Amino acid sequence: MQEILSTLQVGHRVLDLGSGPAGSFPANHTKATVIRIDSELHNPDLPNLAIADAAALPFPAACFEAAIANHTLEHFANLEGALAELKRVLKPNAMLYVAVPDASTLTDRIYRWLSKGGGHLNPFDDAERFSELVAMKTGRPHAMTRLLYSSFSFLNRCNSPVPRPRRLWLVGGGYEWSLKLTQVFFHAVDRTFGTRLRVYGWAFYFGPVNNVDRLPLPNMCVRCGSAHATSYLRQLAVAKPGLIGSFRCPQCGAKNLGLWISEQESI
Ligand SMILES: [Zn+2]
Repeated sequence: MQEILSTLQVGHRVLDLGSGPAGSFPANHTKATVIRIDSELHNPDLPNLAIADAAALPFPAACFEAAIANHTLEHFANLEGALAELKRVLKPNAMLYVAVPDASTLTDRIYRWLSKGGGHLNPFDDAERFSELVAMKTGRPHAMTRLLYSSFSFLNRCNSPVPRPRRLWLVGGGYEWSLKLTQVFFHAVDRTFGTRLRVYGWAFYFGPVNNVDRLPLPNMCVRCGSAHATSYLRQLAVAKPGLIGSFRCPQCGAKNLGLWISEQESI
């Protein structure tokens, strides 16, 4: 989403649709004014937060230069109503970023099993059909789709709710060492058999977005879940090469195993 946030200028407005407790992105990642909306008050200290239904946004028409829906559309009971509202509040040339899980992946199945549904009301499993729906309902042309990988960070004990579900023990207990080993194992299986064990979902870009970084982001942090291109980690000098190397997450500082997928290569 950084491609969109970095394009916005002072005086622009960006809508964070379904911000959660901390916001989908830090406000200092853009020069624009960030307006956040959620259906529940998770964090009263989050600035510019409105509590509202995504299908009835409390904003006038054509008032945003961009919107970010980061892993939220799968939770909306009235998906088409929310997309119609996005169409209404976005300016004609506004940009839209949407990330959703692929309901057919192992990652999303584990997540829903562990959290008894996890609030995922809309099981998307076809990227093309989903992007066509969003483009049609929001009136924005589809610009690009990017594959998202998983680090299974939602299993990390540091991120799990307390008390932790007993089912966590059936998927390795959520320790960082077990998550790292799982990543390496799944990566090897995916490369050998062409499976999609590490795939989580997709990120879609709509509207006049023309600076999307097309590099895959396979190096996922087991603690914060952020994704990094291999070249970016090398540029920051936080990557340690080797057969199985390592990198320190630029976002949270956690030490991860480096899978070093070549940037021309998918999984
Ligand atoms: Zn991290």
